[in-house]
Amino acid sequence: MRKNIVAGNWKMNLTRSDGLNLVEEVLLKLPQKKKAEVVFAPSFLHLYKIAKICHDYDGISVAAQNCNKECIGAFTGEVSAAMIASCGADYVIIGHSERRENFNETNQELAQKVKQSLNNNLKIIFCCGESLKKREEGVHFSWIEQQISDSLFQFSAQQLKNIVIAYEPIWAIGTGKTASAEQAQEMHIFIRSILNKKYGNKVAEGTSILYGGSCNKMNARQLFAKNDIDGGLIGGASLSAKEFLKIIKSV
Ligand code: PEP
Repeated sequence: MRKNIVAGNWKMNLTRSDGLNLVEEVLLKLPQKKKAEVVFAPSFLHLYKIAKICHDYDGISVAAQNCNKECIGAFTGEVSAAMIASCGADYVIIGHSERRENFNETNQELAQKVKQSLNNNLKIIFCCGESLKKREEGVHFSWIEQQISDSLFQFSAQQLKNIVIAYEPIWAIGTGKTASAEQAQEMHIFIRSILNKKYGNKVAEGTSILYGGSCNKMNARQLFAKNDIDGGLIGGASLSAKEFLKIIKSV
């Protein structure tokens, strides 16, 4: 059975004390029988401390927001997958559209980042998503298929067990414009179908596929009610403990 996951991507927000306060409030108020794994994705700087706190709790994990595609070397300012693992993180987010757009990350580079992460026993939240232009041109399905096949299909079915996919239409990220539950479900079914074609039904049915893009306390329940939406990758709404808790309780 695949897992439900609600992950909060803090991006470049929250100082150390603000981040720690948020984590503490969420952990204190979490329902005893939550139905989803909760993931915090803070800045690299806060990873070690937050991972240390979270590891005393069941079903609470910590993610880095990126890693470098190389394993070691003269890359000033960069952070390797091994460093992330050594801080106690569980996941790395790879392929977020902000990294693809602002840092020109290609599908091929992302495949290298996935490889580095897997080599260091990190799980991956792999993001894919189309622009509004691609959707309007009607090429959104082939775009997503290309992103997934270029970056993930070189890995084995066994390795896929450590990969979660987040479908994040770019036009919905940080815009307040959510994909409808039907639009998201349609794409999630498609993603599962391409996993099925490549790896078979067991892998396709076992892979968690999250939705991301202006998911909030008002729309989370409707999105998560869909069969193929296994939780969310949450940006802005994960910066408030109260709102993030409401989203977690919507699973
Ligand atoms: C994200 O950046 O992954 C995201 C989904 O952002 P937001 O929820 O703010 O749209």
